[in-house]
Amino acid sequence: MRFVVLIALLVTHVVWGETVRVASLHPLLSEMARRVGGKDVEVVNLFPPHGELHRFEPGAQELAAAVQSRLILACGKGVEPYLGALREVFSSSDPPGRVVELGNAVPDVLTPEGSVDPHWWNAPENMKRAAYELALILENELPEKREEIRSRLATYAQAMDELTREARLALTHVPEVRRTLVTEHAAMCHFCAAFRLHPIAIQGSAAESEGDMASVARLISELRQRGVRRIYVELRESPRFLQNIASSINATVGELSMDGIAPGQPTYEAMFRNNLRAVCEGLSNE
Ligand SMILES: [Zn+2]
Repeated sequence: MRFVVLIALLVTHVVWGETVRVASLHPLLSEMARRVGGKDVEVVNLFPPHGELHRFEPGAQELAAAVQSRLILACGKGVEPYLGALREVFSSSDPPGRVVELGNAVPDVLTPEGSVDPHWWNAPENMKRAAYELALILENELPEKREEIRSRLATYAQAMDELTREARLALTHVPEVRRTLVTEHAAMCHFCAAFRLHPIAIQGSAAESEGDMASVARLISELRQRGVRRIYVELRESPRFLQNIASSINATVGELSMDGIAPGQPTYEAMFRNNLRAVCEGLSNE
């Protein structure tokens, strides 16, 4: 009898002390994992502080940091073209790690050119969907922590709902004729779909064929017709090509954190609110 009690105590002790090691390929997913997983997860953020989303690929340093992770969180939707190789590395490691594409929990939104916009984090509703998926996975890993995980998920979901409400309210005042959001790459289509804006991405329509005068002329004419006054670039990047297009239609250039990599912005909420402010300002200026 004493032996059974001792075993029960030991087992209980092991379960209490258990955390899940989660590696993440995007800072916003790292933050989500910390908030939903709380003290029950150990999050390893693999994305380097000054990395660029579309150029980053994990190297030896990141792979070493991710060792012994049970989960490797990825954005999915094609953001990480190296996922197949990564999956192979971690499926054969000891213990094996599972690569989870949280973007699979989010419906596709197409760009005006007909490809899938992978930047799903730009709509808080999508962050909520992904957080639900993550919570299910964590509950599966730590069934005894189910209640705590659900309670943290509810707090996170509430914060995302609040952002959706704020954005709907703030953008109500933008008149129909000004509801075009022009960005340098097709990164705000989820945002536009959620908040009833019309996205135009310069890359894909004109930037790739910078030398093609006809397509640049067509683009400029469309931007003029739509009364565009601001063109948005990724934070801290401002290609001369876009400056030229902006000045040719008498528009200004603004910045958005479209890729979700904003080291100075500590939370998703801070990033989203900065983006929202910049969009409202750019679409309502005369
Ligand atoms: Zn991007």
